[in-house]
Amino acid sequence: MFCTFAKIINFNGAYIMYDILNSIKVIAGPCSAESKEQVLSLAESLSAMGVKIFRAGVWKPRSSPDSFEGVGEKALDWLVCAKEKFGLRIAIEVANREHLLKAIDKGIDMVWIGSRSTANPFVVQEIADTITYAIAQSSDFGEKSRGGKGKIDLDMFTVIIKNPVNPDISLWCGAIERIMATGVKNIILVHRGFTSYERSLYRNSPLWNIAIEIKRRYPLIPILCDPSHIGGKREYIFQISQQAIDLMFDGLMIEVHPNPDEALSDSLQQVTPDQLRKILEGLNLRKAGKLPEYIGALREEIDEIDKKVIALLGERIKISTQIGDCKKENNLPIFQNERYSKMLENRKTLSAQTGLSEEFIENLMKLIHSYSVEEQLRK
Ligand code: PEP
Ligand code: MN
Repeated sequence: MFCTFAKIINFNGAYIMYDILNSIKVIAGPCSAESKEQVLSLAESLSAMGVKIFRAGVWKPRSSPDSFEGVGEKALDWLVCAKEKFGLRIAIEVANREHLLKAIDKGIDMVWIGSRSTANPFVVQEIADTITYAIAQSSDFGEKSRGGKGKIDLDMFTVIIKNPVNPDISLWCGAIERIMATGVKNIILVHRGFTSYERSLYRNSPLWNIAIEIKRRYPLIPILCDPSHIGGKREYIFQISQQAIDLMFDGLMIEVHPNPDEALSDSLQQVTPDQLRKILEGLNLRKAGKLPEYIGALREEIDEIDKKVIALLGERIKISTQIGDCKKENNLPIFQNERYSKMLENRKTLSAQTGLSEEFIENLMKLIHSYSVEEQLRK
């Protein structure tokens, strides 16, 4: 349940955190495991705060080969130590068969597929095939495995699938389908934004509509937001987290480091455990309650307006098709750049009268226009 009640009545930080961590799933930990001391000190502070799942990159997929690429296998022992000492669940990124088998061998039962891997069906299939292999190895004469070193306990084993770097929802769905086909029962999605050529405030564009669509397609799979990789800077983490909560995400994956400025990877976007506490305590959790009745009436009005908008778009496309016929008869090109640019400019000026943003109108008109062009091309 999403609830702000305990936040109001308790001034004791511990209760506030208890309420938040019971309402949303929080995965926290460093971008990369750097040393045993770093892992254990973070694990201690995060578990004292009530965080249950500790993340850390062991093998790091970096764009440049000159960047820090993770300490590799030796970090697995540090993480297992953190698990045993503080009772945390451990989540690491795996990008191939070897990574996954090494993780399972150490009894790590939560792995994530990073955004660069999700974008590559070969990589996802290799991971899926390895899971299938490990599941088969884990069942002794058909008996259910209880997990542990080298074995998968299907009730616990969890695969986190981050969105692909590029905004292609079918790649994300493909990865989900490949992992589901292995028989894995616990899947979590993580929305970490998308690479964009356009300069924007954030490191990766949130494109919330893609996350909303994936939630619509897979309503039973929990979806978390990774504000660290969306924002790229620690000062944006709170606002992005709040937006995710407002959109009813099931939780957050946040990068935490004891000394963020000295971090070997993603130093600008990591926060200290204390900063994480403040971010979480500041969140306004939404209630999943019943909507007030008058919203029903407002929704009926919206339904009527949508009907009119769709009918008008139908009329528009009929006219556009007539124009297409005329272009064909006269052997004229379908796309007329001058008309297109003028149309966009004109519609953007109309946006001022409605309170709609120019960007929204421009995107909407581009979508409508591209449909017209496709229809004319079909002729
Ligand atoms: C990470 O979580 O550290 C990471 C590399 O993420 P992503 O795959 O989202 O870039
Ligand atoms: Mn990172």
